[in-house]
Amino acid sequence: MSEVLREEASAAEEPEYVLEARNVSKHFTVRGPLGRTSVVRAVEDATVRLKPGQILALVGESGSGKTTLAQMLARFHEPTSGEILLRGDPVRGAGRRARRAYHSEVQLIFQDPFGSLNPLHRVRYNLDRALRLHQPQLNAAMREQRITELMERVSLTPAAEFAAKFPHELSGGQRQRVVIARALAVEPRVLLGDEPISMLDVSIRLEMLNLLQGLRTEDGLALLYITHDIASARYLCDEIAVMYAGQMVESGPKEEVIAAPQHPYTKLLIESSPDPERGVGDRDALFEGADELGEPPSLIDPPAGCRFHPRCPFAMAECVSQAPPRTELDNGHWATCWLHVKGRAGELAQTTHAAATTARREMLQGAS
Ligand code: SF4
Repeated sequence: MSEVLREEASAAEEPEYVLEARNVSKHFTVRGPLGRTSVVRAVEDATVRLKPGQILALVGESGSGKTTLAQMLARFHEPTSGEILLRGDPVRGAGRRARRAYHSEVQLIFQDPFGSLNPLHRVRYNLDRALRLHQPQLNAAMREQRITELMERVSLTPAAEFAAKFPHELSGGQRQRVVIARALAVEPRVLLGDEPISMLDVSIRLEMLNLLQGLRTEDGLALLYITHDIASARYLCDEIAVMYAGQMVESGPKEEVIAAPQHPYTKLLIESSPDPERGVGDRDALFEGADELGEPPSLIDPPAGCRFHPRCPFAMAECVSQAPPRTELDNGHWATCWLHVKGRAGELAQTTHAAATTARREMLQGAS
């Protein structure tokens, strides 16, 4: 077979998704003060798919399960049920060799760059160790060359000068660049970024987002970008998936999800994010009465029916007792909300979350 035909055949065999979590759940058993055990349902029946060169933002507030989902994709936790597929093949094998092979394709970038670098060693050692583990064919001179390339790739120049520093001698942004360089050392296909910019100064967040964007366009990396910040997701990603209380509630193309959210929780997240086109006064008006919105539910004993119903101003009788089905919309956009089944989804575009909350409160007061 000619080289061209071989390349075409291998491209044809390449699966559509480089990494996939298919219907994964993760339950943790925890022991209470009196020795009683409880089950935390951190993630329930979640599906995430990443294509090569795609950036998917996974958004939700703290405790929504997004970090647990990323840790399953990074194989730090095995799913309680469901499966992870890498290039279409189910991921198996718990041994060190199987994990190392997996991590040569999938790398996780943590929120805290300081905690993820060995503070006792210089930057050069931190990168060299990753190369020795994942690129054993490289000799010392080749590794040194590679370290220089990696430092330049993340704009830490002069490379030799930065490579000789200890992590504590770098700024937060420089440390996170080293973490990204170390992830790139293994030549992965997928990066999982768990709030990778949230601990950085606002002034350097944009630089970091542009660096991640460059890795996608120039290296074809797929990126799962985990954040509670809709504004950065809007800037960086192609698609958005929204998690609430361990479940995925909406997903679709970025423009559609942000311009016309199809789940009340997504609408709440978007309306609570800073928007320069909406003045501070407008935002305050949006959030008049927001402290009545309540807290996220316990994942030990989550609400029956739709988990968002105690906080939802659109809730109806079905929402309290029955989990809403998934409704497929256009362009791969979907949402799980009874409003779609009941033909009431248009209400989402007609009001703000806060106005709907006020209207609901007045209705309940009138009825009592
Ligand atoms: Fe609100 Fe009901 Fe939709 Fe849940 S299913 S988000 S409670 S309207």
